[in-house]
Amino acid sequence: MDVPNAETVDLPNGPTQVAWRRSSRARRVSLRIDPRDGTVVVTLPNRAGRNAGVALLMTHADWVADRLAALPSAVRFADGATVPFLGRPHRIRHLPAARGVAWCDGDEICVTGRAEFLPRRLADFLRAEALRRLRAAALAKAALIGMIPKRITVKDTRSRWGSCAADGSIAFSWRLVMAPEFVQDYVAAHEVAHLRHMDHGPRFWALVERLTPHTGAAVPWLRGEGVRLLRVG
Ligand SMILES: [Zn+2]
Repeated sequence: MDVPNAETVDLPNGPTQVAWRRSSRARRVSLRIDPRDGTVVVTLPNRAGRNAGVALLMTHADWVADRLAALPSAVRFADGATVPFLGRPHRIRHLPAARGVAWCDGDEICVTGRAEFLPRRLADFLRAEALRRLRAAALAKAALIGMIPKRITVKDTRSRWGSCAADGSIAFSWRLVMAPEFVQDYVAAHEVAHLRHMDHGPRFWALVERLTPHTGAAVPWLRGEGVRLLRVG
């Protein structure tokens, strides 16, 4: 029996957006919240059907409601909304007739073109800025230890700010462009250190210390403020 990808399920606390995921590796039905859009993601092992997922949702309805209520308020890309950029609030300003596409001007981010394209154009601008900045930081740090990342990309990940694959490819969450630069510096150092050490052992952390002075400030910042970045866009 198969399930739809997503649907609205009537839980005791109200209609709730649910995304169904099939997993051949999962051994039991499980729930998690995707903070990006406030969806409840239900993972079903191969043998479990939608009914098993709904049953788990029903018994955890209060947990789901509490977790959703605890999410920071969502910020949508629209004229007049405020989004963080490099750790500081910036107001989105729609300039329909201006030349160019999108740019940062003081404490504003200006976006041109038709209103319906504003979210896409702003997202593209932020992703490009994220790649430019994180790439420069990662390349500079890798050069310090005589390494060159195979590839550097940005993604939209739910739970990880960066990753480093065994082949030397590094990926960052584009959302880091909204974080202060010291946080970007730390995440770049963290992933570059994985080019040498794939674990999180003492030698890894000693190398991170060599590559950035910001670990002590950035780790708690991401733990406390990171979820806000997931609620934007
Ligand atoms: Zn790591």
